[in-house]
Amino acid sequence: MPKLPYTMEALAPLMSKETLDFHYGKHLQAYVNNLNALIAGTSFENMELEEIIKKAEGGTFNNAAQTWNHTFFFNQLTPKEVKIPEKLEKALNKTFGSVQIFKEEFTQAAATFFGSGWVWLVSDEKGNLSITSTPNAGNPLTQNLKPLLVIDVWEHAYYIDYRNNRKAYIDSFWKLINWEKVADLL
Ligand code: MN
Repeated sequence: MPKLPYTMEALAPLMSKETLDFHYGKHLQAYVNNLNALIAGTSFENMELEEIIKKAEGGTFNNAAQTWNHTFFFNQLTPKEVKIPEKLEKALNKTFGSVQIFKEEFTQAAATFFGSGWVWLVSDEKGNLSITSTPNAGNPLTQNLKPLLVIDVWEHAYYIDYRNNRKAYIDSFWKLINWEKVADLL
């Protein structure tokens, strides 16, 4: 299990302790436990997580990717307000026109994504940025894209705090982003 870079109460009320108790403490823990059970005694046992994601299928892929996706998701959050670093602002301006337009397009993608999945800001090998989405446990690493930012749009991510109001969850998400970490990935 990855350690969180904040306490379980730190993101409240935008993301409550109860949500983290379930989302981090139960959902992520289950993916980690399932993955460890599935890879025991197999060729995946000593592989790095990213290698498993690129090579595995079925349940092993699902649990490996969900472990990676949730670790990435939780690590990018912070209770402190972090200003967008200039190099990231420039990159977003170049691709989307402005940070505001980027946020609107990402919000739209997350709000309208049908079913369970993830919406990502990614970079390709040439450094071109784009917004993409993956259903279920999907991860852009399998398409040679580098994740920079992600929102979990599975209902378990927001139902405790926001019930069916996914848009309110997305609005809170923007107040919890550690932009320094996003910029460091560029
Ligand atoms: Mn989740």
